[in-house]
Amino acid sequence: MDFRLDAMDAAPAPRALATEAVHAGREDLAGLGLHAPPLDLSTTYPSYDSRGEAARIDAFAAEGAELDGPPVYGRLGNPTVARFERALARLEGAEAAVAFASGMAALTAVLLARLGDGLRHVVAVRPLYGCSDHLLTAGALGSEVTWVDPAGVADAIRPETGLVMVESPANPTLAELDLRALAHSCGSVPLLADNTFATPVLQRPLESGARLVLHSATKYLGGHGDVLGGVIACDEEFARKLRQVRFATGGVLHPLAGYLLLRGLSTLPVRVKEASRTAAELARRLAEDPRVSRVHYPRIGGGMVAFEVHGMPHEVISAVRLVTPAVSLGSVDTLIQHPASISHRIVDEGDRKSAGVSDKLLRLSVGLEDVEDLWSDLDRALGPVREGTSNRSAGRGEPVREAAQA
Ligand code: PLP
Repeated sequence: MDFRLDAMDAAPAPRALATEAVHAGREDLAGLGLHAPPLDLSTTYPSYDSRGEAARIDAFAAEGAELDGPPVYGRLGNPTVARFERALARLEGAEAAVAFASGMAALTAVLLARLGDGLRHVVAVRPLYGCSDHLLTAGALGSEVTWVDPAGVADAIRPETGLVMVESPANPTLAELDLRALAHSCGSVPLLADNTFATPVLQRPLESGARLVLHSATKYLGGHGDVLGGVIACDEEFARKLRQVRFATGGVLHPLAGYLLLRGLSTLPVRVKEASRTAAELARRLAEDPRVSRVHYPRIGGGMVAFEVHGMPHEVISAVRLVTPAVSLGSVDTLIQHPASISHRIVDEGDRKSAGVSDKLLRLSVGLEDVEDLWSDLDRALGPVREGTSNRSAGRGEPVREAAQA
């Protein structure tokens, strides 16, 4: 008996996230005689049966299901990207996942899918990542947004509402939302939760009732700052619409990016847990520091810390040496940026401030360096202690853990 085939026929037993992270999307490799996943860079695939191809393309146009049989063309699907999609779906506990060229391409596809169903109205809670806010506010795709507090979601929903969008923890304030309560407020309108900051290691929004999970895969999923990508995890019904939008509009993930993202997933739990440990310690020290007026660190943990300084945030940015002053996040190395100048610059100043993004706020993405090395760089970059400054949580030894609407 061939034990490999036997194993492949068996229904997969439930497995822990750490196990899925290294095995999901790779189930067929042993049967192929491979250990590392292959990278398929083909843009097109030969077929001598054009009648058969016509039938498969008709089925895709009607249904949006993944193509049965060999691939046809890179914009319709790629085997390497499909491995990443299967793996991410497993990690998020979703039926399916659909990958895109970037997080913004993924959000664009969701909005276009809803517009295609005649549902142009979106309800959203600030803060969101700056470009997500901008895409909704500008209505560039023909959508219209109503911004609300979490408590206002149910009242803002109209017959033509196609989506409710939130981020938790939010970029950049790390404000956390009660996703279960929000999903309840949404009724039958799909709730999209941007899970970029938490990753499925810390939070699986579908289990709380969200219908769509968005990732800027550029961040923790890739994890090494060298790949741009986006992905939506959802049910198969919504995934079919997204595949059709992707085919029509072309925002595909490059196969090399798919390869790197699959590889990134295998270390995701280890990276997130280690970064969380270091970030929690840095948040604790910052909260005790008289040069820091406020620290935001999520209850669920994670590698992101936001803090407000008494002095000029620009001086901290220009003084770091080990930490890299750069936008983006979720890499193995630590990055710091000033949201009011960069990631949220495109958001109207008043909207930015009322969402808690003060001009004093700095956002730190903690990597895998040693905590003492990071602290000595931050400590030096924060500069001398000034007379008369105080810290909200000084002496308490715990960072200020902001409630949902920080
Ligand atoms: N969502 C969040 C929370 C982000 O931080 C970002 C980018 O910073 C995006 C979405 C957009 O992703 P991308 O830059 O991959 O288009």
